[in-house]
Amino acid sequence: MKDHSDRLFHQAQNLIPGGVNSPVRAWRAMGMTPRFIARAQGAHIVDVDGNVLVDFIGSWGPMIVGHAHPQVVEALCQAAAQGTSYGAPTPREVELAELLVEAVPGVEMIRLVNSGTEATMTALRLARAATGRAKIIKFDGGYHGHADTLLVQAGSGVVTQGIPGSPGVPPAIAELTLSLPYNDLEAVQQAVDRHGDDIAAIIVEPVAGNMGVVPPKPKFLPGLRQVCHRHGIVLIFDEVITGFRVAWGGAQERYGVIPDLTCLGKVIGGGLPVGAYGGRRDLMEQMAPVGPVYQAGTLSGNPLAVAAGLATLKILAQPGTYENLEAKGQFLEAGILELSRQTGLPLCINRVGSMFTLFFTPGPVTDLAGAQLSDTGRFQRFFQEMLAQGVYPPPSQFEAWFLSLAHSTADLEQARAAMNKAFIKIMRA
Ligand SMILES: *Cc1c(COP(=O)(O)O)cnc(C)c1O
Repeated sequence: MKDHSDRLFHQAQNLIPGGVNSPVRAWRAMGMTPRFIARAQGAHIVDVDGNVLVDFIGSWGPMIVGHAHPQVVEALCQAAAQGTSYGAPTPREVELAELLVEAVPGVEMIRLVNSGTEATMTALRLARAATGRAKIIKFDGGYHGHADTLLVQAGSGVVTQGIPGSPGVPPAIAELTLSLPYNDLEAVQQAVDRHGDDIAAIIVEPVAGNMGVVPPKPKFLPGLRQVCHRHGIVLIFDEVITGFRVAWGGAQERYGVIPDLTCLGKVIGGGLPVGAYGGRRDLMEQMAPVGPVYQAGTLSGNPLAVAAGLATLKILAQPGTYENLEAKGQFLEAGILELSRQTGLPLCINRVGSMFTLFFTPGPVTDLAGAQLSDTGRFQRFFQEMLAQGVYPPPSQFEAWFLSLAHSTADLEQARAAMNKAFIKIMRA
C-alpha cells in the first residue's frame, strides 16, 4: 500500500522541484516513486501508509544510535524549552567543541556550521587563504556537498543521475578543481608535479562513501599526507560521514593519518542540521574574528543541534560501541557473502565498520570506474524486492548502507532473508 505516499508525491511535484528537497530522495534511479515517512523509532521507519521498514539509510549517516533515541529526544525537549536560538554563544557549544577536539586527533580548534556543505566550502576557503593558491584536488566519485568548486566529477546524487558536474558552475571555477581517480597515488604525484605550486588543498573522503563504500588502499592516505607535506598543500579529510562512524576519532584515528583540516557533519548533529570544520590551530586562527578569513552563520552552534549532537556522542562514548557496530557489520557481510555463493550472484562487498555497499559486480571496487561496472539494473530489481519485504536500502547503487546501534539481530536476519529472496529472483530473471 502506498496510496498516501503517491498522493503526497503528486502534490509535492507541483510545489518542490522533483517533489523532494534533496535529489536522491526522489528514487528516480529506482524507477519508483518515494515513500513519505511519518515517523521512526530505533532501526525502524514507518511510512505514511503504515508500512514498517528496517532502515539501512539512517538519514544518510547521522542516525548511528537509532531514530528517536530517548536520551536524544530528552536532550532536545530540554533545550527547546530554554529557547531555540539566541545568536550568542552558549555553554554547550564549548562542551561540544571540547569533546570534538579531544576525540579527533587532527583537530586542535573547531568551528560549528549548519551543514557538511558549509564545512567543506569553508575549509577550502581557509586552505586557499593560507596558501595563497587557487587550485584544489579532489577524487572522482568523492562528494563533498554542493559548493561550486566541489561539483566536479562528484559522487552521491550527482553520479546517480549520471551527470559529470552541474550547469551553473562557471568553467572558470570548475577549472580550478582537478579530479583524479580515488586510490591512485601516482595520478596525484603527476598532478602535483605539474601544478604543485598552484594547489591549495587536497580534499578526500578517507573512506569514500558517496560512490558506494570504497576503502582507502593501505598506502593511499599516508601517500597523500607525504605529498602534501612536501609541497605545502593543505590536506583536508572530509569526515562528514566517517567522523564518529568508522571509529570514535574517525578515519584519521582508524588509519593513523592526521590531516591539516577535518570536516565533520552528519553524526555530530544527531539528526539535526550541523557541520563543523577544524584542524591545526595556526590555520584555524586565520578565521575571523581572529584572522581575516570570513565565515559566519545566523544559526551556527544552534542550541537544539548542539544538544542532539552532544546526546548522541555521549551514547557513542560508552565502552563497546564500535566493537558492537563492527560485529553487526561483520555478521551481515558474512551472511551476504554466503548468499552470493549459494545463489551464484556475483557481488563485491566493501565494508568499513558499520558502513558498507554491495556492488552488483564481481569487483574489486577500488574507485569510481570500478563502481560503475556494477549492474544497476540488478540493483534496481534488488531495491524493489527488498522494499517489498520491508527492508529499506539506499535507493542507489552508489550510496552507503548505514548500521546503527539500534539494529537487532532480528533486523539483520530479516534483511538477510529478504536478500536471499531478492538474489534468487535476480538470478532467475
Ligand atoms: C553528506 C556529505 C557532505 C555534505 O553534507 P550536507 O550536510 O549534506 O551539506 C559532505 N561530505 C560528505 C563526505 C558527505 O557525505
